[in-house]
Amino acid sequence: MLHIGSHISSAGGFEAMGRHALLLHADTFGFFTRNPRGSRVKALDLEDMGRLQKLARERHFAQLVAHAPYTLNPCGAKDQVREFAKMAMEEDLRRLDYLPGNYYNFHPGSHVGQGVEAGIQKIADLLNQVLREDQQTTVLLETMAGKGSEVGKTFEELREILDRVHGNHLMGVCLDTCHVWDAGYDIVNHLDQVLDAFDRTIGLARLRAIHLNDSKNPMGSGKDRHAPIGEGYIGFEALSRVTRHPALRDLPFVLETPHQEDQGWAEEIRRLREAWH
Ligand code: FE
Ligand code: FE
Ligand code: ZN
Repeated sequence: MLHIGSHISSAGGFEAMGRHALLLHADTFGFFTRNPRGSRVKALDLEDMGRLQKLARERHFAQLVAHAPYTLNPCGAKDQVREFAKMAMEEDLRRLDYLPGNYYNFHPGSHVGQGVEAGIQKIADLLNQVLREDQQTTVLLETMAGKGSEVGKTFEELREILDRVHGNHLMGVCLDTCHVWDAGYDIVNHLDQVLDAFDRTIGLARLRAIHLNDSKNPMGSGKDRHAPIGEGYIGFEALSRVTRHPALRDLPFVLETPHQEDQGWAEEIRRLREAWH
């Protein structure tokens, strides 16, 4: 079975996200651990988290993919910026301990002129401070488009981060189809070669989740603008092939496509499930 869902608003709490996912015929979903534009978190409702856990078990959900706020910059130039990223990630991971066995995905960050090498070192330093041997969540680095000074636009950069993290057995990678396309990986015409490159550089065992998005821009544009599935330069056929590839087909797929209403995601899930075999 294809494990697929969309990003879901966490405003109504944990169980509500699970119920919402079921309405879309999803069996996984992505959610922000806190307001992506702010830093506030609500007090934890452990009973609510328990109810989501029970629902996810009963309805055979795949792993959920929590997302750190995209405003965090783990390799910012200012101490204060990195200190905030560290605090938020530490707190998020403590909270996710109550929803064991899922993923926590984050953007490696932007080096803002310090250079890729300095950025990679700062990201690794932060992870070396934040990861705990007893954490219940696998932390995923997301593949980035390379917009501005983003770190993580090549598999080599991600590998370099992982190499410098002592606790990298607690880590994996989330591949975003829009981002890798925008970064110059041709998943439309050469999916096998791209996955071979991933395997040689990082190892496919590290690949734990997919953000499934079409792209508003041609390959290599370095832009990062998501399009609905089938309405961008990657196209429905190529994205469906991603969901069916033997190396990927068992992973959780999370749509981060722009839609105004639930029907947009429900329709994408329906079409991708229909094409999956
Ligand atoms: Fe992301
Ligand atoms: Fe993404
Ligand atoms: Zn993106």
